[in-house]
Amino acid sequence: MSTHNIPLPPTGSTLTTKGWHQEAALRCLLNNLHPEVAEDRENLIVYGGNGQAARNHQALQDIIHALKNLENNETLMIQSGKPVAILPSHEHGPRVLIANSNLVPHWATWEHFNKLKDEGLMMYGQMTAGSWIYIGTQGILQGTYETFMAAAEKHYGEGSDLTGKLVLTAGIGGMGGAQPLAVKMANGVCLACDVEEWRIEKRLKTRYLDVLCKSFDEAIDLALKSVKEKKAISIGVVGNAADFFKYVYDKGIRPDLVTDQTSAHDPLNGYVPHKMTVAEALALRTSNPAKYVELSKLTMGEHVKAMLAFQKAGSHVFDYGNNLREGAKQVGVTNAYDFPGFVPAYIRPLFCKGSGPFRWVALSGDPEDIRVTDEAMKKLFPENKKLHNWLDKAQEMVAFQGLPARICWLNYGEREKAGLMFNQLVREGKVKAPIVIGRDHLDTGSVTSPNRETEGMMDGTDAVSDWSLLNLMINTMNGASWTSFHHGGGVGIGYSQHSGMVICADGSKDMDERLKRVLNSDPGMGVARHADAGYEIARETARKSSLKLPSLKI
Ligand code: NAD
Repeated sequence: MSTHNIPLPPTGSTLTTKGWHQEAALRCLLNNLHPEVAEDRENLIVYGGNGQAARNHQALQDIIHALKNLENNETLMIQSGKPVAILPSHEHGPRVLIANSNLVPHWATWEHFNKLKDEGLMMYGQMTAGSWIYIGTQGILQGTYETFMAAAEKHYGEGSDLTGKLVLTAGIGGMGGAQPLAVKMANGVCLACDVEEWRIEKRLKTRYLDVLCKSFDEAIDLALKSVKEKKAISIGVVGNAADFFKYVYDKGIRPDLVTDQTSAHDPLNGYVPHKMTVAEALALRTSNPAKYVELSKLTMGEHVKAMLAFQKAGSHVFDYGNNLREGAKQVGVTNAYDFPGFVPAYIRPLFCKGSGPFRWVALSGDPEDIRVTDEAMKKLFPENKKLHNWLDKAQEMVAFQGLPARICWLNYGEREKAGLMFNQLVREGKVKAPIVIGRDHLDTGSVTSPNRETEGMMDGTDAVSDWSLLNLMINTMNGASWTSFHHGGGVGIGYSQHSGMVICADGSKDMDERLKRVLNSDPGMGVARHADAGYEIARETARKSSLKLPSLKI
């Protein structure tokens, strides 16, 4: 029974605040905490471990009150989920500025952070939790679809999808559970194992997975048959990844793609060692944590060895951002890093084009508004087959959570076009209320995360976060509705810094100008960052556009 009163986001076309930018911030904040969206509403946790929307319940009430009374020439300052000041500003800039979880680098450890958190002085903002633009599992589904489609294009040629291809993976929990559906959306066959049956059952119920097979052989046979028939399907089986991957390899099967999303980032509370039942593993976790971690890492070693064997035999193998290679390396698999992470393998070329996760939310709360925007997007980009496929399938397969929203990846240039088009839809009354546009912090110009998004940069600048700060500054200056700067999202405290941007298309002429500026500068910084690091695709993107890069004489 809830002891706290967290309101649902207001919907409809009537303001409950003094302007659409503060209204958008209020609706998106409360949407992050919507019962269909938040993982743990009572504790204000939106997603991703402890990613919170506000520091505590008092801070949440104070933010709501501040947004409701905020004037159009004032800006609300949020420090780690607490409203700390309302300052005079001006009409054309952000109504809210947010800084979450930031620590001076020398003190940037979980220990120091947790101490401050326990004292009520900080909160973990993750990426879109503390910056109020999370839209539920659609975000991870689309990102996963984009990755598999990028892999298909890289390996099988432009315009290809995964038709007739076999993808082997493991870990179909909270986020990894998007893999089976994403592969199916890309028309491939997904063969996935998870050590816990209830997790697989959950994916079946939510239609993220088609079939649960009783045995390894049954799952393999069905997968091979489906590949032959070129039938898109997702197949689950209960098993430890280290055992299942070896079993598939020993049978002589060579999947086209091999990856994994078991929770290997956490060897104690996430990953499950093999050669024991889950119940035995859970008991060992509490009785002897050190032994558990040792066995967990040894299992990661076997798991990675199987993946390396697939790679040697011709499969395309990649790490999916869960630190699995590191665990294996620590137990002596010295060549664990022989297969790449997903960003250098597939996503970086997209980042070089200024591409990234562009999302929008219908503030009206009416799903029909998203249908209108989907159709308008297809008209705006008639040639983009991948986008059309995604939008059609998303309409059919994705259930909205909280306020209706959509996500797709758009390049530099395209985001600006889409933003202006949305503003026009609002102006002409084709949608019932303003549309808010935002993105993940995992984007081309906004994130610095050496173990993930900026792994293996061409010039070795993986850990240089000047870029994320410049991204924040230009988006703030150019008139976003709210901007944010966070530390530790995705990979944990000490490992990343990143900025967020949200802008509300309210239909006004002023917003035409602001949208043009922000949706240019935001991905523009991504193109500049990658061009500066030496990526030719980024330099070519800059050359073909109006982007000026003085050091490169572009
Ligand atoms: P989760 O804890 O919800 O799910 C992990 C799943 O792995 C569980 O279902 C668990 O039963 C299963 N599992 C654990 N050990 C196993 C083993 N040895 N064999 C088979 N199954 C096993 O976690 P999640 O949110 O799905 O995230 C999974 C991992 O992916 C995390 O490490 C996360 O950091 C990473 N991740 C990366 C990205 C990205 O951008 N690439 C996005 C999301 C998550």
